[in-house]
Amino acid sequence: MALTILDHPLAGELLTRLRDRTTGPAEYRTKTRRLGALLVLEATRDMAVEPRDVETPLETFEGTRLTKGLVAIPVLRAGLGLLDAVTDLYPETIVGYLGMERDEVTHEPRDYYAKLPPMEGRRALVLDPMLATGGSGAAAVTYVKEAGANDIVFVCVVAAPEGMKRLEAEHPDVAVVAAALDRQLNANAYILPGLGDFGDRLYGTT
Ligand code: URA
Repeated sequence: MALTILDHPLAGELLTRLRDRTTGPAEYRTKTRRLGALLVLEATRDMAVEPRDVETPLETFEGTRLTKGLVAIPVLRAGLGLLDAVTDLYPETIVGYLGMERDEVTHEPRDYYAKLPPMEGRRALVLDPMLATGGSGAAAVTYVKEAGANDIVFVCVVAAPEGMKRLEAEHPDVAVVAAALDRQLNANAYILPGLGDFGDRLYGTT
């Protein structure tokens, strides 16, 4: 499985603000959107293009255009924080939604909502900021494959080694783009050093 960690000073600064416990929801949302743009650029770096010539005012220019569209699948609710980054950069993106929550005792995922468009011929970006145990991430990817996707990138802010291991075991064909690979999970399956509960920080809930 291909794991790409963003290697950019701006990504490092934005992630530091997201980790900081004093960062409030308003800043959290704007910083997530900006970091999301860097993640989405990386997740689409290898998209295929075809030739498209245009006439500049002076001569013909041999340009390019993308051959594939995108489908973005935010995993509710934290994944919504990354959605605007996709549609800012790729306005024609179609969007599916997956509602998954984890059982606080078993830490296993439970799905409560799925609305997925047909995905054939598109790159699917699964948006789930925290790849912790990998349970909900792997389940989300399974849904997306069942909807027809075969070109999938999992986009997260922070990945844990445990989550990477599970995703790799269940979906070795899926690429992962993250801003950081953190140390480990704690007993409650939170990522260390992490940033806490991403959805709570994004929406100001506790
Ligand atoms: N989900 C979160 O929001 N944070 C974690 O650390 C793990 C899962």
